[in-house]
Amino acid sequence: MYDSIVIGAGIAGAVAARTLAEEAGKKVLVIERRNHIGGNCYDAFDQNGILIHEYGPHIFHTNMEEVFSFLSRFTEWYLFGHEVVAKVGDKLIPVPFNLNTLQMVYEKKKADRLAEKLIAEYGEGSRVPIMKLRENEDPDIREIAQFVYENIFLKYTMKQWGQKPEEISPEVTGRVPVLISHDNRYFQDRYQGVPKDGFTPMFERMLDHENIEVRLSTDCSDVLRFSDQGVFFEGERFEGDVIYTGPIDELFECRFGRLPYRSLNFVFEHFDRESYQGHSVVNYTVSEEFTRITEFKYLTGQQDTDGTTIVKEYPFAYTGAEGEIPYYAILNEENQALYEKYQALAAGIKRFYLLGRLAEYKYYNMDAMAKKAMELARSLKK
Ligand code: FAD
Ligand code: UDP
Repeated sequence: MYDSIVIGAGIAGAVAARTLAEEAGKKVLVIERRNHIGGNCYDAFDQNGILIHEYGPHIFHTNMEEVFSFLSRFTEWYLFGHEVVAKVGDKLIPVPFNLNTLQMVYEKKKADRLAEKLIAEYGEGSRVPIMKLRENEDPDIREIAQFVYENIFLKYTMKQWGQKPEEISPEVTGRVPVLISHDNRYFQDRYQGVPKDGFTPMFERMLDHENIEVRLSTDCSDVLRFSDQGVFFEGERFEGDVIYTGPIDELFECRFGRLPYRSLNFVFEHFDRESYQGHSVVNYTVSEEFTRITEFKYLTGQQDTDGTTIVKEYPFAYTGAEGEIPYYAILNEENQALYEKYQALAAGIKRFYLLGRLAEYKYYNMDAMAKKAMELARSLKK
């Protein structure tokens, strides 16, 4: 009845399903345990008619033409250069820290001198991870590095990860490098924005194909069983390909222990006024217990509304308790070793493939995820 089964209807699962259905003519069943598609990119209107991102703010950004044109088949875009500010004292300063930020935190003469030094040292337009900047021995550059470390990274990272920047993978803090430029955008990718009418309609169109069937509110354990003998779907041996985008440890009853994740508690608030903060995202890098506040109307460009809805993000350590969602893999050697034990079990199941932030225990952006999903699906065409 089905040629392939995809577990999870996030961007990994949806792109894989569409590619299998349309390029290989496979009949695909998508199984999703939530009552909606889209995974963490899901958006919906709240009770006040404001389009919100239920699992935290998502801005699509990419330099990959192939990914942009694939997704553009399912949506038009509201494209903009996404900017973020950090609240430091009573100022709102651009993040990533750049040459404009430098001018806001030092008096002009000093800022000009430091800017010249940064350009001479790293070259105009370069991107310098904070952990690299801190290694520089020049006292002026050390001073900037210390300022950025203390005012942008230290407390935010402590909140987000429960660890100091030097204790987490440099890949993570390296996502927000110091920019030796006057570019205030958070990302430097060519395409950035959100689907014009939201992420969820984009996913609806992607999954709307005669070869795709979606079953919501269904955990894969309700219908699938995995063993050395293979995969069993509703009691019968299933011979096709199975792509799994859920947490890999859960698939094997966490028999080696849970893979650690950070989770987030999202607290939404609505205000009957035009504007709350006047910015889409304000990072709280030195104060408060939440990491950031997103004001959705500035992210989605929605105008047909009087009030405004915001969300605050409170990070915590995922425990696996009912209702908790694992959002961020915690990248370190120990966790990678644990991951690999589960990966070895999965490798023992024929025609079974791990894909996605959870199944691969990686830190993927949407575009990289879509690309990987296309590649996997294309490799399974036979
Ligand atoms: P998910 O979106 O998590 O989808 C996995 C799906 O599988 C879920 O719907 C889940 O319910 C389902 N599932 C799991 N287990 C089972 C099971 N046993 N049975 C059935 N279904 C199951 N990326 C960007 O590019 N830009 C951003 O601005 C951005 N912002 C982000 C903000 C936050 C707060 C977070 C956490 C992530 C952000 N990301 C962003 C990353 C982005 O969310 C991921 O790249 C993307 O969601 C990964 O897609 P996925 O399909 O792997 O995972
Ligand atoms: N970060 C920080 N302060 C900021 C922004 C980012 O300390 O103002 C650090 C923090 O450790 C964060 C990491 O850089 O987890 C990556 O930030 P990014 O915005 O990419 O995180 P995501 O969007 O994935 O939550």
